[in-house]
Amino acid sequence: MQVTPSGNPVVVSPRDNPDGDKQNILGLDRTELKQAIASIGVPEKQVKMRSAQVWHWVYHRGVTSFDDMLNVSKDVRARLADHFIIKRPEIVEAQYSNDGTRKYLIRFADGNEAETVYIPEEDRGTLCISSQVGCTLNCKFCHTGTMKLVRNLTAAEIVAQLMIARDDLSEWENPTEGRRVTNIVMMGMGEPLYNFDNVKKALEIVMDEEGIQLSRRRITLSTSGVVPHMERCGKEIGVNLAVSLHAVRDDVRTDIMPINKKYNLEQVLTACANYPGAHNARRITFEYAMLKGVNDSDKDARELVKLIRKYKLPAKVNLIPFNPWPGTDYECSDWDQIQRFSDIVYEGGISAPIRTPRGRDIMAACGQLKSASEKKSKAELAREAEAAVAAAATSETVHHSSTGLT
Ligand code: SAH
Ligand code: SF4
Repeated sequence: MQVTPSGNPVVVSPRDNPDGDKQNILGLDRTELKQAIASIGVPEKQVKMRSAQVWHWVYHRGVTSFDDMLNVSKDVRARLADHFIIKRPEIVEAQYSNDGTRKYLIRFADGNEAETVYIPEEDRGTLCISSQVGCTLNCKFCHTGTMKLVRNLTAAEIVAQLMIARDDLSEWENPTEGRRVTNIVMMGMGEPLYNFDNVKKALEIVMDEEGIQLSRRRITLSTSGVVPHMERCGKEIGVNLAVSLHAVRDDVRTDIMPINKKYNLEQVLTACANYPGAHNARRITFEYAMLKGVNDSDKDARELVKLIRKYKLPAKVNLIPFNPWPGTDYECSDWDQIQRFSDIVYEGGISAPIRTPRGRDIMAACGQLKSASEKKSKAELAREAEAAVAAAATSETVHHSSTGLT
């Protein structure tokens, strides 16, 4: 049940909800779409053809109305429109950086929100997609990590982020040649491997050759090192892997990334060495945020080379200058030091480009994403605190500290 911020149930009148109980077909995979079409009385021998047509219109052409599906007979179109809708979640806010980066704050049907970022470059356009609202992992340097996990996104919500970006970039008119989103990175909010099934389903829809047709070589999934799912990711999804390394010693990594207690460096690097499909032409990317005085010494750089050699990893390192956010304790390493770090790794025979921060002015850079869903929970916390204070006022035995306020 939906509730308003004041906690009352949302009452939806038929006028407010013109879609009634119609099912949204955006985000259905091929099997589900066939089942949906069969369920509305389309003759059995037509189901395969009709679902292929609808699939093409929805995922290749990006239409949002059944009326536009010109090769579908009129009576089937009417039947589809009686039962289904093709609906994107709402863009609550679109921000445009002066470097061309676009950030979308997207609100899903239940009111939760997540961010998606489009990063244009000379030879490509990359869409950074979220897999969860919030994140359970609390990496200390990451803004998303300060949110509690609200929930996993569904496959439909993951695919919808791409549909929305393509709408905003007017990409549907020329779906293959006029591509502006040429690459996808699962590097938005959340840990994609903790939402494995939905991420897999979404990426299968995105890669489908009669739909959006994005090649697996153009998709990269970034994980903080969820070892048990890394192999599955390679075998079952087959996309490029990026791993958030950020430290070369277990004590440092555990301090900044609590998941290291569960899956330490050795386990993560072994899983990388065993990643299906990893070879020199398709290297694993190690992400390394440059945190001043934490992980950025010359010794760290040399240790990084040693580790990559020890595990014989076909790898490259992406050095990410730390992107600051309000309230963080970390600082970005000095530019000279980032450069030295990069040189040392290069001299060790490993490519280590420094990633230019994009969209920092609109808080769209790596690790800066955080949605208003947390503001809601803060409001909830404030209400709880108020209620606790009120309760304390009526009970002489309750100390102020028991309200949880600091
Ligand atoms: N949860 C996944 C993917 C999302 S984060 C993961 O952790 O891999 C995308 C990348 O940005 C990760 O490598 C993450 O560690 C890094 N990152 C997080 N906060 C950052 C910050 N403030 N500055 C620079 N990089 C950051
Ligand atoms: Fe979650 Fe990735 Fe941020 Fe860590 S870096 S808190 S895993 S989103």
